[in-house]
Amino acid sequence: MIHLTQGNIRLNAQARDKTEAIRIAGSLLVDSGNMQPGYVDSMLLREKVANTYLGNGIAIPHGLPKDRELIIQTGISVTQFPDGVQWNQGETVYLVVAIAARSDEHIELLANLTDVLDDPETVQRLARTSEPADIIERLTQPRDGGSVNTGAPADAADDFAKWVDVALTGPAGLHARPATAFVDIAKRFQSEVRVRHISKVANGKSLVSLLKLGADKQASLRIMARGVDEDAALDALAAAVRHGLEDETEAPTAGFAAPTLTLQARAIAGIAASPGVAIGPLRHFRRERIVVAVTANDAAHEQTRLQQAIATAKLQLRELHDEVKARSGGARAAIFRAHEEFLDDPDLVDATQRLIVAGHSAGWAWRQSVDERALEVASLDDALLKERAVDLQDVGRRVLRLLADTLEEEPASFAVPVILVAEDLSPSDTARLDPAMILGICTAGGGPTSHTAIIARSLDIPAIVGAGPAVLHQAEGSLCILDGDAGNLYPEPGDGDLALARQAQHEWQALREAERLACYQPAITTDGHRIEVVANIGGAAEAEQAVAAGAEGIGLLRSEFLFLQRAEPPSEDEQFIAYSAMTRALNGLPLIIRTLDIGGDKEVPYLSLPAEENPFLGVRGIRLCLARSDLFRPQLRAIYRAAATGPVKIMFPMIATVEELCAARTIAEEVRVELGAAVVDIGIMIEVPSAVLMAPELAAHADFFSVGTNDLTQYVLAMDRGHPSLARQADALHPAVLRMIDMTVKAATAAGRWVGVCGGMAGDPKGAMILAGLGVAELSMSIPSVAAIKSRLRAQSLADMQALAKRALACQSAAEVRAL
Ligand code: PEP
Ligand code: MG
Repeated sequence: MIHLTQGNIRLNAQARDKTEAIRIAGSLLVDSGNMQPGYVDSMLLREKVANTYLGNGIAIPHGLPKDRELIIQTGISVTQFPDGVQWNQGETVYLVVAIAARSDEHIELLANLTDVLDDPETVQRLARTSEPADIIERLTQPRDGGSVNTGAPADAADDFAKWVDVALTGPAGLHARPATAFVDIAKRFQSEVRVRHISKVANGKSLVSLLKLGADKQASLRIMARGVDEDAALDALAAAVRHGLEDETEAPTAGFAAPTLTLQARAIAGIAASPGVAIGPLRHFRRERIVVAVTANDAAHEQTRLQQAIATAKLQLRELHDEVKARSGGARAAIFRAHEEFLDDPDLVDATQRLIVAGHSAGWAWRQSVDERALEVASLDDALLKERAVDLQDVGRRVLRLLADTLEEEPASFAVPVILVAEDLSPSDTARLDPAMILGICTAGGGPTSHTAIIARSLDIPAIVGAGPAVLHQAEGSLCILDGDAGNLYPEPGDGDLALARQAQHEWQALREAERLACYQPAITTDGHRIEVVANIGGAAEAEQAVAAGAEGIGLLRSEFLFLQRAEPPSEDEQFIAYSAMTRALNGLPLIIRTLDIGGDKEVPYLSLPAEENPFLGVRGIRLCLARSDLFRPQLRAIYRAAATGPVKIMFPMIATVEELCAARTIAEEVRVELGAAVVDIGIMIEVPSAVLMAPELAAHADFFSVGTNDLTQYVLAMDRGHPSLARQADALHPAVLRMIDMTVKAATAAGRWVGVCGGMAGDPKGAMILAGLGVAELSMSIPSVAAIKSRLRAQSLADMQALAKRALACQSAAEVRAL
C-alpha cells in the first residue's frame, strides 16, 4: 500500500483542458520525486491511445509501460478541479488521480477509488472539499474485507457451474490496463462472466467491478462463465490472463496516431471494415426494379432470348473478371468466375425452359427458377452455403436485366458524392459503383472479410459492415458521419461533431501525406530493429513504381506476366531483356525472381496443359517447371544472365518436398555452369503445409524462405482462395496459419536462414505487425501498401510486436486475432 500525503494533493486547481490538467497533476509527482518530468509526456501520449476517464468525475492518467524507467518510486497524486475539466466529449473530471506505478502498490488505492466511483455524493464532496485530509482519508481508509458492491453475489452458492482458476502473471496486479484487456475479451462473448478473488466477485465485463477486486500481482482468480459460449469465453480469458493481459505491452498500434473520434451524436455501431472518416449525405443503395411480362406466345423465341441473355451475361462476367483482376487481383476477381459457373447449371436452365414451354416469358421463367433455388440455398443450415444464395441472386439479376421489358430507376449513379447504405453489396454491385462518388459505405449485414469490406479497403473508402437493420431506416439524403476506424455511423450530427469529424479527416489526410513523405525512411522499430519492406510486382514498369513508392527492393517478381496473354512462351532473350530492365530500374536494390508459377487458377492456353480434376492439387508451380524443362531452362538461363546486371535471387514456387527442391537446384546449377555465371542465392516459397513441416530439412538446401500466405492459407484451412463464399473465411490471420509461419521462422533461424513473407498478409497492417513479431525479416507487399506499412512498423517496438504475435498464436480463430 502506498502512502498518500498532503504533498501529493492539490486543491482548487484550474485547467483549460485535459492536457493542462495532466501537466498539473503530473508535476505534483515530479515535485515529490516520484517520477521524472518525461513521464508527464508519457501520460499525455497514453491519452492518445486509451481513455483514462474512469467515470463519475474521476480520471486516472498514467504513462506508457515502456516509459516505466522514468518512475523513481511508485506514487499517486490527487488534483481537485472544482470547476471540472473536459476529459473527452461528454466527460467532465473533478478529481485527477495521476498514477506513477512501478508495480502493484497502488492497486488497493485504485480499488478504494472504484468504491468512491459508485458514490456520486462522495465525489462531489471530495471535488469541493478544502481539506486534503478528506481525500486522504477516503482513498486510504481500509476497505471492509467482505464482498464489494459489484452487482454480483459473493456467495459461493451463486458461483457459476463452469469456471477455471488462474493466477495473474503480470508484474502489477489487476490494475486499469490489464483489467481493460480482460473486459474487452469478456465482452466478445455472450455469456455472463464473473471473476472471484478470495471473497469478492466482480462482473467480468465491468472495468470498475474488476478493479474493485483489488487483485494484486500473482493473485489467484476464478473466472466463471455462464451462457451459450461459456467454454470459449473461459478458454479465451484464461489464455489472456496466462499471457499477462497486455501488462507489459502497449496495444500494437500504440505509437501509430490514427485519428480517433469521440462524438456526441447517437452512434449506430457496426464493425470497422475500412479506416477513415467520411462526411456526406446518406444514400440508400437500391437495385433497379426489373419488369418482365408473365406470359409469352412464342416459346421458341423466348428460348432463344434466354440463350442469348445467358451468353451475354457470361461475356459480361468474363470482362468484369479481367477488369477486377487487373484492378484488385485474381482472388478478388474469382467470384465472377464462380458466377459464370452458376449460368452453366443445367438444373437452373432446364427449370426455366420448362416454364417457358408452359407459356411464360423467358424473364418471368428465369426469375422464378432463380428465386426458387436461392430460397432453397438460403434455408440451408450451413452459414457458408447460405451465403451462396446472394451470389445466385446476383448472377440471376444480371441475366434478368438482359431479359427485362423495362428497367425502373437507374441504380448507383449519384449527382453528388454520398455515403452509401445497403443491406449488403454484391460483387456486381460494387463493380458498377463509381468510387469517385462514394465517400463511405455502410452495410447492415456482412463481416470484416465480406466482399464489401475487401473492396472498400482496396479502394481506400471508409466503411462499416454489420451495422444492423437500423441503418436501413435512416432518412435518404440526411447528413451523416461515418467513422470507419471505430465502426460507427452518426446520423444527423450537430455542428460540434461535424467540426470534430472534419478535423479527423484532415488528420487522416495528414497521416497519409506523412506516410508518403516518409516512404523512403527505413522501417526501423522504436527499439532499433530493421524490417525490410519490399514490393510484389508482376510487370516491368512496376519495378520503377515500387522504388518510387519507397520499396527497398522486390521480394516477389511474379514472372508469369511474361507468359500470359500471348500465343507462345517468351524466348530466353525476351526474358533477359525484361529482367535486366528491372535490375536497371532497381539500381542496386535486390530483385527476387520467382520462376514460373503456372497451374491452379493461373492458366496459359498455349501450353495445352491437360485439364485437371483438382488443379490446386495438380501439376502447378515447381512441379510444372520440373516437368517442362523447355520452359524452365530458358527461364533460368535468362535469370542467370540478368544476375550479372544487378543483385538477383531465384525463388522456386510451391515447393512441397525436399526432392523437388533438390531436383530444381540441380537443373539451376547445370544452367549456371553452362553459362559460366556467378552463384546466386536460391530460395523457396513456403506455401504448402508439407514445406512448413519439412522446413528444417529444406533449409539445408535453400538460402532463404518466403512464405506465400495466400496459398499457405488455402492449403492449411482447405479453403479454395477463389471460392465464392469460402474465400472470405480463408483469412491468413487464422492462428493455424500463424502457427505454421512460427514453425517456419523457428526452423529457418535454427539453420541460419532468413524468412520473408510475400503473401497478402504482409500488406495487412495487423498482419505485418504479427509477422514482424514472429521474426519475419522481410515483408513484400503490393506497391500501395509500402508507405503505410513502413510507417506503422516505425511506430512500434519489436518487443510489442513480439508480445502481439504471442497473443495471436494463442487465439482460437482469425476473428479473435483481428480483435486483438
Ligand atoms: C502466395 O501464395 O501467397 C503468393 C505470394 O503467391 P501467388 O499469390 O502468386 O500464388
Ligand atoms: Mg502462391
